Amino acid sequence: MGSYTYPKFNYVPPTDLMTQPPQRKPLVVIGAGPVGLAAAIDARLHGLDVLLFDEDDSVSVGSRAVCYAKRTLEVLDRLGVGQPLCEKGVSWNIGRTFLQDEEVYQFNLVPDPGHKRPGMINLQQYYLEEALIERALQLGVDIRWKCKAVGVRAEADHASVSLESPEGTFDVEADWLVVADGARSPMRRHLGLDIEGHVFKDRFLIADVVMKADFPAERRMWFDPAFHPGQSVLLHKQADNVWRVDFQLGWDADPEEERKPERVLPRLKTMFGDQDFELEWVSIYTFQCRRMKDFRHKRLLFVGDAAHQVSPFGARGSNSGLQDTDGLMWKLALVMKGLAPDALLDSYDAERTYAADENILNSTRSTDFITPKSATSRMFRNAALELARHHPFARKLVNSGRLSVPSFVTHSVLNTPDTDAFQGDMLPGAPMDDAPMQRNGKDVWLIDQLGNHFQCLVFVDQVSQLDAGTLSALRALEAGAISVKPLIISRHAGAIDGVTVLHDTQGLFAKRYDAQPGSVWLARPDQHVVARWRNFSNTAVQAALRRATANA
Ligand SMILES: Cc1cc2nc3c(=O)[nH]c(=O)nc-3n(C[C@H](O)[C@H](O)[C@H](O)COP(=O)(O)OP(=O)(O)OC[C@H]3O[C@@H](n4cnc5c(N)ncnc54)[C@H](O)[C@@H]3O)c2cc1C
Repeated sequence: MGSYTYPKFNYVPPTDLMTQPPQRKPLVVIGAGPVGLAAAIDARLHGLDVLLFDEDDSVSVGSRAVCYAKRTLEVLDRLGVGQPLCEKGVSWNIGRTFLQDEEVYQFNLVPDPGHKRPGMINLQQYYLEEALIERALQLGVDIRWKCKAVGVRAEADHASVSLESPEGTFDVEADWLVVADGARSPMRRHLGLDIEGHVFKDRFLIADVVMKADFPAERRMWFDPAFHPGQSVLLHKQADNVWRVDFQLGWDADPEEERKPERVLPRLKTMFGDQDFELEWVSIYTFQCRRMKDFRHKRLLFVGDAAHQVSPFGARGSNSGLQDTDGLMWKLALVMKGLAPDALLDSYDAERTYAADENILNSTRSTDFITPKSATSRMFRNAALELARHHPFARKLVNSGRLSVPSFVTHSVLNTPDTDAFQGDMLPGAPMDDAPMQRNGKDVWLIDQLGNHFQCLVFVDQVSQLDAGTLSALRALEAGAISVKPLIISRHAGAIDGVTVLHDTQGLFAKRYDAQPGSVWLARPDQHVVARWRNFSNTAVQAALRRATANA
């Protein structure tokens, strides 16, 4: 039942790289976890050559991350792997929280219909990594397995990395180095860079259980259930009938003892009763919430767990790591192509350290609720849960893990502040909301029409309302050194030669973006709004583009 066979990837002896003096490469990535792989794929999509090293030659062991949020799925769609992962994963939107055996709170991640992707899918991390590796190879990423980075130097105009391989040691220089070597980050340690935050004094047992059960595909969290009194338990359904159970154990639990089958199986039997199951994977974890002070050090860019870590409650680890590379790679591509100054990369640091702080704050609050640190906090927590049974106001206090949402980078120096009045969430810095559309009479999603390049969206009632001057300015923007693709969103169906027209069939774009005929948005390659106006002005779009690329 559902046992996963770990693949071994083709080891290419790095003898071609073992030269003196060391070879200089434009872009090197260290670490082929989900985040390093996403960085390498994105680099190829931007036309960059990339060399990726990993010390191992397989995917990560055990299911690890299971929950991938809507925004991450949209990023994975942009990278070209979203569809198979969504087909394989278990989609869900509903989360239920129980006190003992009674439900006290329920949430729906996407209460509003009209989005391509669900609020979350659950999928074992090894499937995500496998899909990313396949895609990276398809795009021509040069992956070198069994090459362990053992040293690094950060020079003013390059990084120098020492690697150990079965063929011996060698050095490689990189104009740019993306560091994605995980929470322990040997690269961060070699450079003596600090990562600050705190460790939570609690232990959790994770068990992946293969079981044919007809529980609904929902997230379920129990506080103080009869089958595990005094502690919390979390249940998620993953692919292949694998169920993830997290049992809170407390700080005093002995990790070696608790992972033994003779300790784990009785816990599961008490929870699942007569249900047949098989244990697939067991681990005990503790966690930390911390981040590096700066994610950029000269030519080194830290991403994912190497740069920041959170507790698993809220599923913000991999999700935020994939959003790091989403925000980074278009900027790095512009800098490497000489189309933007190096200073553009400082905005990566500013935007993603801000996002990491948001994630750490949310994750810490959830963790404090789930694992109260004192008798008083526990009393407050239990009182909130009791009240939530009967009083809607108290449900807001129940925090069983505020789940990953993308950061609104509204403070970013790349944004052009509003000069016109707009309502709603799609302000400069917002990750773009999806909407159902038609293109040439076929159903499509807005989010799939965006990305990898700047985009200028113009909303019209009828395409005939677009004047020739605006159309020729839009075409000129597309032909610019930094191409800005025009996208006409029309309330009624229509076509324009050589320009993409999307028909806002259900009026959801107009609603979500507070669109009026003539309204214009400039969007970044990572699908964030960067500026918006009520009327098209070529001068304003050009100025906003310069600002969004640090060329101002
Ligand atoms: C129990 C658990 C549950 C989780 N649940 C979720 C969840 O539901 N959702 C979510 O978003 N996140 C979750 N996470 C977090 C998620 O697993 C991590 O955030 C994610 O794996 C980080 O990806 P990464 O690529 O940054 O690092 P990693 O996945 O750690 O990858 C690092 C890579 O670098 C390689 N490497 C390391 N050192 C070197 C070196 N010296 N040289 C070369 N290569 C090296 C490693 O082999 C590895 O391939 C969970 C984590 C745990 C432990």
